[in-house]
Amino acid sequence: MCMALIVQKFGGSSVKDAERINNVADIVTSTYKEGNDVVVVVSAQGDTTDDLIEKAAEINDKPSKREMDMLLSSGEQISAALLAMAIERMGYPVVSLLGWQAGFDTTSDYGNARIKRVNATRIEQELDKRRIVVVTGFQGVNRFGDMTTLGRGGSDTSAVAIAAAMHADLCQIFTDVDGVYTADPRKIPGAIKLSSISYDEMLELATLGAQVLHNRSVEMAKKYNIELEVLSSLTRRKGTIVKEESNVEKMLISGVAKDDNIARISILGVPDKPGLAFKIFSRLAAKGINVDIILQSIGRNGTKDISFTVDKNKMDDAIALLQQNAEKWGASNIVSDDNVTKVSIVGAGMETHPGVAAEMFEALFSRNVNIQMISTSEIKISVLLNKADGDRAVEAIHEKFFGQ
Ligand code: ADP
Ligand code: ASP
Ligand code: MG
Repeated sequence: MCMALIVQKFGGSSVKDAERINNVADIVTSTYKEGNDVVVVVSAQGDTTDDLIEKAAEINDKPSKREMDMLLSSGEQISAALLAMAIERMGYPVVSLLGWQAGFDTTSDYGNARIKRVNATRIEQELDKRRIVVVTGFQGVNRFGDMTTLGRGGSDTSAVAIAAAMHADLCQIFTDVDGVYTADPRKIPGAIKLSSISYDEMLELATLGAQVLHNRSVEMAKKYNIELEVLSSLTRRKGTIVKEESNVEKMLISGVAKDDNIARISILGVPDKPGLAFKIFSRLAAKGINVDIILQSIGRNGTKDISFTVDKNKMDDAIALLQQNAEKWGASNIVSDDNVTKVSIVGAGMETHPGVAAEMFEALFSRNVNIQMISTSEIKISVLLNKADGDRAVEAIHEKFFGQ
């Protein structure tokens, strides 16, 4: 009498205390009662992951990544067991599983592992027994049999991976807001809830700083064509659907996002001749340093400047590498600034509408915000700003495109 296979993911705030866990147990068991197979993915309670990171720092300021994952994966274990106990107490059959028990094979990259495959045999066996299956998000096991984690916010990706591996009928991401908005609704009170958004736009928003979904979860949902619903575990209102085509809203811009995890590095006074960009960026790539916005000045008096942005946590590595090579490349100086932020607008509509960039820049000008760097693609425009201008900039841009 099984109606459907439903994957439901609950984030940290949805399981932060006993009351919230009981609320989640209510949602899960009512889905189960309707005759569905239910796989639940949970994150660590509240700020547990941050607290564990702090605890580690008290003991060792450079712990090995392996031990860090051993520690961080414990947060999700607590939530999974507690939720299973709540469901048990309500009288339903349930089992909780850790990442390795649920078949999450990952790469060995501790702290940022990628899911290679989900062997869902154990989950299937449990579902066949008509059990509700609670799985820890954010974690898996590598080829050495060691625990790995998927990167901050990675539980969303765990949920989508199960949905993809098991061909689930529905994948619901329950969080503390009732959908995807045109900007972070906690910061922009006028933000508008979207009834749907396309994978491509959601992927850009998530990558550009909208933390509501882990970007790799969106990438995977797109790849396997899994429709996602982002909704609140508290209001039970209809959420936002993330799917191939969002035909409901034909909006020019679907959202504004901000990313503070960024730093700018400039190599000044390098000779204006062929091959330097190649040398610089291939060395960075070889070190696994991802470069985002790149800006090169035109040559003047035989020299030029090259600036680019990297994730804040890669800044020191990037500077060290450049300094080692500065003399060889003929650079006069290397400067950096992590007091910056990146503000972006995303929208499939901008591809066919000229003038969107000008409107964004006008909004910034209206608040006297200076732009340091600009980058564009078919469906996004990003600007690098002084960090102190970030919130004002998002506000002004949101107001420009969506009104107050
Ligand atoms: P969870 O713990 O459930 O995974 P997260 O904190 O990771 O929740 O993500 C939800 C948060 O994302 C919201 O509380 C909200 O502040 C933030 N957010 C940022 N941008 C957006 C957006 N465009 N739409 C909705 N929420 C957003
Ligand atoms: N608990 C992990 C984190 O805080 C994973 C997640 O919440 O998705 O990043
Ligand atoms: Mg999250």
